[in-house]
Amino acid sequence: MPEGDIVYRAAGRLRTALAGKELTVCDLRVPRYATVDLRGHVVDEVGSRGKHLFVRIDRYSIHTHLKMEGVWQVYAPGQRWRRPGFTARAILGVADAVAVGFSLGKVEVLARDREDEAVGHLGPDLLGPDWDRAEALRRLTADPDRPVGLAVLDQRNLAGIGNIFRNEGCWLARVHPRRPVREVENLGELVDETQRILDASAKIRIHRPLVYGRTGMPCPRCRSARIATGPLGEGGTQQDRRIYFCPRCQE
Ligand SMILES: [Zn+2]
Repeated sequence: MPEGDIVYRAAGRLRTALAGKELTVCDLRVPRYATVDLRGHVVDEVGSRGKHLFVRIDRYSIHTHLKMEGVWQVYAPGQRWRRPGFTARAILGVADAVAVGFSLGKVEVLARDREDEAVGHLGPDLLGPDWDRAEALRRLTADPDRPVGLAVLDQRNLAGIGNIFRNEGCWLARVHPRRPVREVENLGELVDETQRILDASAKIRIHRPLVYGRTGMPCPRCRSARIATGPLGEGGTQQDRRIYFCPRCQE
């Protein structure tokens, strides 16, 4: 599942392509909003919060979520799409670019001043300009018996983390993802490390997995143990529930 860094970058691409320009194509291929036509209106801005993306146009905000398979791509007008047309859920065009959202898990049109109804439940956004570390820690510790690997994945605590970065963050802080929050003495460090690598991935795009998906490979820190894996999750796919950790470095 795409994480906050992917959504942050998608918002940047859409902002570059659309912001400040008049919409010439507005095609939302979901039954409830199929008749919405914002052509002739200027795209004010494109923003993200956690894994949610907003294209703000006048008094409206087109809210989308990538969920499992979604992706936003930007094309030149007339350019051949790299994904099948029938998977397109939202097409927003301006004179010199077309943004296409394929296989989006969610598409809705909100009044712009009611965006909070879609994302008001989210915890502090790790990549947001209003990132609030103290509030994030407060939310994480509200349920002290919960395994920390689940607490950091809960978007009501921290917005933007998925399975890759929860595993990387726990490894960086030397904390086993199954350890209850109450027993994690360096929870602040865990949050800081996770924020740092997610931010780097969003803005510099350099993230190479440390432990995620590296079952059986040597731990990049101690080099003496091999990365182990196991289940830890609530809902989602098998892969979403999987944890990766070093049995030696993470207790
Ligand atoms: Zn290790």
